[in-house]
Amino acid sequence: MIKYSHIMIRFGELSTKGKNKSSFIRVLYENIKHALKDYSSLEIEYRYDHIYVYLNDEDYEPIISRLQDVSGIHAMSLVYRCEKDIEVIKSSALELVKQESGKTFKVNAKRGDKKFPLHSDEIVRAVAPVILRNTDLRVDVHHPDISVNVEIREEAAYIFTRTYEGAGGYPLGVGGKAMHMLSGGIDSPVAAYLLMRRGVKIECIHFASPPYTNVGVIYKLEDLLKKLNYYQPTIRLSIIPFTKIQEAIYDNVPESYCITVMRRMMYRLASKLASRRNCPVISTGESVGQVASQTLVSMHVINEVTNTPVIRPCATMDKLDIIAISKKIDTYDISVRPYEDCCTIFTPKNPKTAPDLEMAKEYENKFNYEEMITEALNNVEVKIIGE
Ligand code: ATP
Ligand code: MG
Repeated sequence: MIKYSHIMIRFGELSTKGKNKSSFIRVLYENIKHALKDYSSLEIEYRYDHIYVYLNDEDYEPIISRLQDVSGIHAMSLVYRCEKDIEVIKSSALELVKQESGKTFKVNAKRGDKKFPLHSDEIVRAVAPVILRNTDLRVDVHHPDISVNVEIREEAAYIFTRTYEGAGGYPLGVGGKAMHMLSGGIDSPVAAYLLMRRGVKIECIHFASPPYTNVGVIYKLEDLLKKLNYYQPTIRLSIIPFTKIQEAIYDNVPESYCITVMRRMMYRLASKLASRRNCPVISTGESVGQVASQTLVSMHVINEVTNTPVIRPCATMDKLDIIAISKKIDTYDISVRPYEDCCTIFTPKNPKTAPDLEMAKEYENKFNYEEMITEALNNVEVKIIGE
């Protein structure tokens, strides 16, 4: 059985980032260290072009699978280390190839150590015939099923044939921080995850309307955030008391405009908290057309209360695709737990799909919402989920 010495991590997208590259790699390196913190025997090293995880006898499978969820990793190769001796290299390459399935192969070689007696094309010409003679594989230089990569460096020779896809995206943290509106439904945790994949950290805001919503909602949010902790180890959740505002809406606004006005209030609160917490954007799980408040006209009328950009990662996704992601990140079963949402309780029979901005303003001006917003923001309850 072949024993691999390390995992070589490639950044992909990061390589295009020029000046930012080294700080991105630094962040990725820290995130990888954190993701693998339970494996005390691993050594992790970073250089300009790659990050290396030295296995030191650890089983590589769970490590690769953990790394596949770290954003900013483009691909990973399992690397075998051997002596810088062409005979050893030949037999090792053959062993490695035999573990792979496919019909065709190609050998690539890189001679980092210029003192090595064979040039890279000579290495290729030494290794390929051994594989041809001892397997049924054919050579395909354009689209090989198996790529056999040989790298000669100062300290040793390295061979890898096996490459695993990473999550792509950017390292968490390089994209700043968003104030994310977390409901407890299926969409908003997925939207949070998609942002994290782009390197954006999240902080969450939730509007709670006790006694219309029960404390079960908060447990549900905590459970959702614990799942998201897999991608972001610490998440701050701000719970906004929303009952008074909601009651004022239902006392003052015609039923068909309740959702529109309620969501304008949510956006007002979210953008105030966002600026207080240094989040340049708000994010939500909204998806175009899904419900009355998510038509384009509704979005325009709702969004009108703030200049803070609103990112909607699920905007153009089909519900089934959103559900597929929620299953992948393991939030689905939590999201579908029954609970009373402040939106579901007061759901009007005929919400406006094309609300009029002036009318929405007229209705909400019937009560002093500014004062209520200030009061709500003075009574935020904060929970830190994770480490
Ligand atoms: P989700 O599945 O995320 O609950 P949804 O399809 O049920 O979304 P809405 O209830 O209209 O749609 O909510 C749209 C978005 O508004 C949510 O994705 C979330 O970002 C935000 N939102 C809704 N209700 C709340 C709430 N009580 N607290 C915080 N954010 C909320
Ligand atoms: Mg919802």
